[in-house]
Amino acid sequence: MQMVQAVSRFGALFADWVFPATCAACNSGIERGAAFCEACRESLTPLPPSCSRCAQPTGSFAVTCRRCRIHPLPLDSIVAPWLYGGELATAIKRLKFNSDIAVARDLAPMWAPALAIAIGVHELDVIVPIPLHWRRRWQRGFDQNTILLQHAMRVAQLKTPVAFALRRHRHTPEQSRLPAAARQSNLVGAFDVPPRFQSAIAGKRVVLLDDVVTTGATMAAAARTLRRAGATRIVGVCVARAE
Ligand SMILES: [Zn+2]
Ligand SMILES: [Zn+2]
Repeated sequence: MQMVQAVSRFGALFADWVFPATCAACNSGIERGAAFCEACRESLTPLPPSCSRCAQPTGSFAVTCRRCRIHPLPLDSIVAPWLYGGELATAIKRLKFNSDIAVARDLAPMWAPALAIAIGVHELDVIVPIPLHWRRRWQRGFDQNTILLQHAMRVAQLKTPVAFALRRHRHTPEQSRLPAAARQSNLVGAFDVPPRFQSAIAGKRVVLLDDVVTTGATMAAAARTLRRAGATRIVGVCVARAE
């Protein structure tokens, strides 16, 4: 037994030497198990009290935001543990645009508990990640939502089924590069549920997963598609919500 412990301790030391733990934003050396160095951690902001429907910060959990009172999103709720910004934004951009996929592993402990709680509280049956268009996935070499989800499920030990039931069949411009007013029209007709996935969605309570929610336009377009396929409840979960 002592021999096994010594070998595993040697393995950890060797891993630290070959792959030292680094901050997900600035790459400086950190303790293994942390995602950010102390300086970058100071820029992280937990989501303040927000609209229960769309997670837009409102200053109170009891207040539904003006937009949701007039035109509620076609989701039952959006859950976001963090406000998008600071060095969390740097880390997510490193994942998406610099192919730094280790960031997905580092971020997992920061949002996996929110995913697990949402699944438990809303009694959700299946997780559906919002996909990239195949052409962007091919350019990028990976789909960040799939990798984020894999690590979060491992951290939270989730057994909820995952269905890649949404297809993005239009190659739309990157939402983050568009002004807010153009985001909704950019996504009209962007998603569908292929026939072979209809039974995975009909009558199901769905977690819709995205890395970041800004206006909610992407989640709304995906949720409308899932509703048409028969989803009975849709809760969006993201790592971070932009104001
Ligand atoms: Zn840092
Ligand atoms: Zn709202």
